[in-house]
Order: sequence, then structure tokens, then C-alpha cells
Amino acid sequence: MQMDFTGRNAIVTGGANGIGLACARALTAGGANVTIIDLAKENPREAGAGIGGQGIEADVSDRVSLEAAFARVDPLDILICCAGIARFDCLMVTKQEDWDQTIAVNLGGVFHSLQLAANRMQARRSGSIVVIASTNSYDGEAELSAYNASKAGILGLVHTAANELGPYRIRVNAVCPGLIRTRLTSAHFGNTEVIREYFRHIPLGRGGEPEEVANAAAFYASDLASFITGSTLFVDGGQMASKFGTWSEKTADFIGDHWQLR
Ligand code: NAP
Repeated sequence: MQMDFTGRNAIVTGGANGIGLACARALTAGGANVTIIDLAKENPREAGAGIGGQGIEADVSDRVSLEAAFARVDPLDILICCAGIARFDCLMVTKQEDWDQTIAVNLGGVFHSLQLAANRMQARRSGSIVVIASTNSYDGEAELSAYNASKAGILGLVHTAANELGPYRIRVNAVCPGLIRTRLTSAHFGNTEVIREYFRHIPLGRGGEPEEVANAAAFYASDLASFITGSTLFVDGGQMASKFGTWSEKTADFIGDHWQLR
């Protein structure tokens, strides 16, 4: 059985770049009509046209603009919530403004998107919602207190939504990526010393690509996942299964951007 989205309408928030764009491409490849929602400065119309779908400018933390965007997709079968931001600072000096914005976009944006989608889907008694959370939903990476709190909160929303929306045959699941190569993480990937140490703790010895996250999101969105709701899938190269590190110079070399056994 293949992933088939023929005739399905999908929204991908934050879909103009990175993981969101890869999700939009994956759904399109399966036959879905995809609408990308993203900030005006990211030119979602161009991104939407680029995948043969449409793009709408909206801010997921702004209920009014988001509602207007959702109203343009009817009916709605699939929602993938990908819009997100990260602001780095130590807990003790995190600015209120950065805290508020991160929570408003990452957590508030998922709340608004989920609620708007669920209200549209419930009448038809079907739908699939996928939220891109993070390994940071579970662990406490330093200098990311607002981000980590927002991503942990997302899982609370996913569990509650899965519980409440199951009777309407609406499934809600979360994908938790590890470090994935996008603009958001370009500073990591651009620094060999940083990724050498980071990937020491990743059993597969490397970072992930947006398409590898999109494959998991598309699976959840598809009928292949018809009995799965309220669940979480790590796409992290085994990072969450690792403790005290996997790779060492005793047996391996760090070559370019990955660890490799000698
Ligand atoms: P990305 O390349 O920056 O893509 C995120 C997109 O969301 C950008 O186009 C961004 O626009 C947009 N966006 C930001 N705020 C928005 C808002 N208020 N309304 C609508 N769109 C908004 O980042 P990514 O790495 O693909 O991340 C996608 C999601 O995966 C995020 O939720 C992120 O937290 C999560 N994630 C990423 C990683 C990773 O390693 N990359 C790991 C775990 C989880 P701007 O660029 O203008 O802000």
C-alpha cells in the first residue's frame, strides 16, 4: 500500500522553507492539493506555485489572518503544523519579548491551527493533523527555555486533541525531529566542531534532512496510519535512545558532516 493523497486538501503552516516545504512536496507527490501558509516575507505564494499548489500569507500567531487563510481551503483533509521559531538565550536573561513571541508562534500557532482545522474537519468526520514538535519537547537543551517549553506544551495539545477528536475520526500526531539541516540550524551545520560533538551522541552519526522528517509526517497524514493517534515519532537518528554518547575517535572518524567507523 502506498501513500495516496489523491483528491485531499492539505494545509502546511511554515511551508515556505525547510521541513514545512519538504512536507508540502511529499504531500504533493502523493497527489494532494497543498496550500502553504507562511509569513509574507517568506513569499508563500511563490513556494506554493513552485509545488503546483497555492500559498497564502498569514501569521500563525494572528488568529484573524490565520482564520482568513484557513477559510480559503475547503474542505480540509490534512493539516501539518510546521511554523516555528527559536530564540537562543540563557534562562536568566531571556527577554520577556522573546518568551512571548516564541510561545505565541510555536504553541499559540499550533493551538489556533489545530482548533481551526478541527472545527472544519469534525462535520465531515475525518481528518489528519500532524504537528512538528521536537526532541526538545522532552529534553532541556540549554539557552532554549522558551522553545523547549513551547515544544513540550505542543505534546499536551496533541494528546488532548487526539483524545477529544478521536470520536470524530480526526487523528492528531506529533513528529519529533532531532537536528535537521535547515535555515533554523545553519549555524550548527556550518560549524564542524559543533556538529562533531553533537553527532557523537547520535547513533546514526549524522544530522537529518528535511525530507526524512517529511516522510514521517506524510505517513501520519496518510491512511497507512489509520489506527494511530495521540502518538509521537522521533526522527532523530536515535538521539533520544542514546546516553553518554555513541561515537568515539577510538573506532571512528568524523568525516565532513558525519561519523564513520574505520
Ligand atoms: P525554517 O526553515 O525556519 O522554517 C520555518 C518556517 O516557519 C519559516 O518559513 C518561518 O518564517 C515560518 N514561520 C515563522 N514564524 C511564523 C509565523 N508566525 N507564521 C507563519 N509562519 C512562520 O525552520 P525548520 O527548521 O524547517 O523548522 C520547522 C519546524 O520544525 C519548526 O516548528 C521547528 O521548531 C521544528 N524543528 C526543527 C528542527 C531542526 O533541526 N531544523 C528540529 C526540531 C524541530 P521565518 O523564517 O521568516 O521565521
